[in-house]
Amino acid sequence: MKTKAAVLYEIGGPLVIEELELSPPQAGEVLIKYAASGICHSDVSFRDGVLETALPAVLGHEGSGVIEAVGDGVTNVKVGDHVIVSLTPQCGECLFCKEGKPFLCAQMGEVIWKASLLDGSKRLKNAKGDEIGQLVCVGTFAERAVIPAGMASKINPDAPLETVCLIGCGVTTGVGAALNTVKMEVGDSCAVIGCGGVGLSVIQGARIAGAGTIIAIDPVPQKRELALSLGATHAIDPMVGNVVKEVKKIQRGGVHYAFEALGRKDTIEQAWSMARATGTAVIVGVPSPDTVLELPVLGFFGEKHFKGSAYGTTVPSRDIPKFVDLYMKGDLRLDDMITSHIRLEDINDAMAEMTRGEGVRTVIKYD
Ligand code: ZN
Ligand code: ZN
Repeated sequence: MKTKAAVLYEIGGPLVIEELELSPPQAGEVLIKYAASGICHSDVSFRDGVLETALPAVLGHEGSGVIEAVGDGVTNVKVGDHVIVSLTPQCGECLFCKEGKPFLCAQMGEVIWKASLLDGSKRLKNAKGDEIGQLVCVGTFAERAVIPAGMASKINPDAPLETVCLIGCGVTTGVGAALNTVKMEVGDSCAVIGCGGVGLSVIQGARIAGAGTIIAIDPVPQKRELALSLGATHAIDPMVGNVVKEVKKIQRGGVHYAFEALGRKDTIEQAWSMARATGTAVIVGVPSPDTVLELPVLGFFGEKHFKGSAYGTTVPSRDIPKFVDLYMKGDLRLDDMITSHIRLEDINDAMAEMTRGEGVRTVIKYD
């Protein structure tokens, strides 16, 4: 079978749009026809080598689509099901999966590094016969892909696939951070550093949880405005004045939860300073793996917590359908987060826009 895809051959290079040969699903795998894929900042990080994966590979990891075929032994989905692809294989066999923590599935690192299926092999070949990988096992910058069945979560078939695709990465990461990683409660206060797709999702999760004060922090005026319309009670431009002091002016003593959604050393350290005594700094953004932090130790004597959030502490088969339902009820507003829908051919322009920090989410829509 042929599929059109956007392939990264070298770090920093353009994505090459080409026809690839796709082999059929094997046992435990499914063939998915993608309806849409969001472009996430991590795709830019993989393109630029800040995050590493084996190349060449089809990038993209925030997708939705319809199951077209299933391999032997697949029971969680069937042909015709509408699904969102998640970022964890949910192998069900490793220690973390057995503990009910599939967001830390031991297979995750492997698939990210190797851009292969779980058995280490690849399903895509280019016209020269070279094997092509697929990012995080899913490679959503393609019309079709063969993926492990555990990465497909069945959703309400009435949900618009070109919108709910955002739940595959950014929304689940952000909403999950607020609702699963720290379980925000009515009246809690928070600050959110970075108002891209993930940060805006943290803000919406905080609103859904009933947070009292939600402070959005971003240098781009349009993103601050959008944050206010999606549930933030205050917005701060971090380029004006001392951002930690500004947060403490709004919420005396600091916030219950300070979420960092950029993955940068300086802003992670700011998040620590924004959290109040007994509060928690939550690291949601993905920094370069060699990043080393410097934190004033004093906060630990105020019983502050410092917490990582991996894929929003999400159990995809449980939470992804739930987030789709929140969208269908109008609680989770995803349409407002989509800046534009594009065709796969326009992907390099969209990646350039994202590098410049413009827009929130661009979504590729497939025919
Ligand atoms: Zn992502
Ligand atoms: Zn596992």
